[in-house]
Amino acid sequence: MTVLEVENLKKIYRPRFGGNQVQALSKVTFSVEEGEYVAIMGPSGSGKSTLLHILGALDRYDEGDYFLDGQDMNQCSDKELAKIRNDSIGLVMQDFALLGDKTVIFNVMLPMFFDHTPFKDMKRLAEIALQETGISNLKNKKVNQLSGGQKQRVSIARAIVKRPMLILADEPTGALDSKTGIEIMDMLSNLNKEGITIIVVTHDRDIASFCHRQITLADGKVISDITDDE
Ligand code: ADP
Ligand code: MG
Repeated sequence: MTVLEVENLKKIYRPRFGGNQVQALSKVTFSVEEGEYVAIMGPSGSGKSTLLHILGALDRYDEGDYFLDGQDMNQCSDKELAKIRNDSIGLVMQDFALLGDKTVIFNVMLPMFFDHTPFKDMKRLAEIALQETGISNLKNKKVNQLSGGQKQRVSIARAIVKRPMLILADEPTGALDSKTGIEIMDMLSNLNKEGITIIVVTHDRDIASFCHRQITLADGKVISDITDDE
């Protein structure tokens, strides 16, 4: 099954007041099948985050097509995009994007606050996600008392709590030391083996080598797309 498909995607940033516009993506075309583990690589400024934000329905594009699970994202209203984001996509960011003064379990339950899940079920599902990421013992701690690696585990628990079809991670190891970064990539590998499709943005070759496929961007264009031999 095809999870997502982009075709001739183009994104231009237009400054609000003067200055030059930036073409951040141009003619980007690829598709991702269910169960893939993909790295999006490229130097700083090559368009990786822009692409990930579009894939995550956080931003719109200027030209081309994006189909997620067969759905034409250009035809979706902002409200529909918000629902897709909440139900189908788990996001993991370099800076964790957690609520620091809230507890671990509160942060993991957060995606379910918007869809009327009974509290008991929210708690049960969050506890399962915390078990899977190996941090059940931290559930009542405030996030700002945790190490970077623990915080990234919380954000992965939050990303998987609703069993999304796709996890998108933007430089998930960028704020971590290399040993902790490897632990996080191992954890994503295990989630991928359980069937979750994962796309990781990184500029780090060692991190990308955990993935089965490497798509490389330069100046907003795909310059290579290589799948490992089995
Ligand atoms: P990467 O994540 O690979 O470092 P980005 O997607 O962040 O690359 O940026 C791609 C290009 O778009 C860069 O030239 C960057 O300066 C520009 N850019 C990114 N975000 C914005 C923005 N919000 N407004 C204007 N230009 C932007
Ligand atoms: Mg970036």
